[in-house]
Amino acid sequence: MLAHDAVQRNLQTLAARGVEFVDPGEGYLACGWIGKGRLAEPPEIVSAALRMLAPADSPLRGRRVLVTAGPTYEDIDPVRYIGNRSSGRMGFALAAEARRRGARVTLVAGPTRLEPPAVDEVVRVRSAADMHAAVLAAADSVDVVIMAAAVADYAPADPAAQKVAKQAGPLMLTLERTPDILGELGQARVRRASGGPILVGFAAETADLIPRAREKRIRKGLDLIVANDVSRDDAGFDVGTNAVTLIGEGRQRDVPVQSKERVASIVLDEVEDLMRTPAAAPTRV
Ligand code: C5P
Repeated sequence: MLAHDAVQRNLQTLAARGVEFVDPGEGYLACGWIGKGRLAEPPEIVSAALRMLAPADSPLRGRRVLVTAGPTYEDIDPVRYIGNRSSGRMGFALAAEARRRGARVTLVAGPTRLEPPAVDEVVRVRSAADMHAAVLAAADSVDVVIMAAAVADYAPADPAAQKVAKQAGPLMLTLERTPDILGELGQARVRRASGGPILVGFAAETADLIPRAREKRIRKGLDLIVANDVSRDDAGFDVGTNAVTLIGEGRQRDVPVQSKERVASIVLDEVEDLMRTPAAAPTRV
């Protein structure tokens, strides 16, 4: 007990001097018990170290950022679903970079094969409806929302409780629109008229990229939209690189092909700019 108190006092003294700690991880311990006390996972330690080394003047430091990533799966029956090719890599890179700059990051991730980065909170979801609920639950208390997820636009209206048996002829499925999560956040911000989080969306297109992205930014009431040509082999879904155009109010910036980590860094530079100059924020429709 005395030793424990002495350790606590030492830790408090170190914390007061600005030393930060990475909490131990949970799981199997050397003594055979399951609990808290393992060495934290190496990615957790690296992420904490990078965050401590982040520039002290980033406006993201200490602010809350919500990032969505990956696809959503819309169930047809217990064994089949409608999905898309998003790997989650772009959203994961954004979440990791926001945390590296000192933000407190909540990541809402659809089903992905990739492991999410070490951030403050990871919420796993499956469908657009799940993502809608998770984002709305968090959105009121955040400063920035970045929706990098490829949310399904349609979901089966009446998913079957049992596996649908195949038949000789074609199968007709009725699909219904999913909620436009980002559009709702944009509308809510207009109704409140008192600011609300900075909203960043993605426009994944295969044609008419820039005009569609511009229209989408205005319609959804976004501060920034990342126009993403997903017809290229070196950009968009399921590759490690991306090439995008960032479109904000009165600004447009081409970002040539490079790693998704570098693209994430440039997107967050723009977000930091928006945070530094609130007067330059766009007309909120
Ligand atoms: O309209 P579109 O799907 O192209 O809009 C893309 C942007 O809107 C992305 O940021 C995506 O995450 C978001 N979105 C959404 N809810 C939907 C569909 C897309 O928030 N149902």
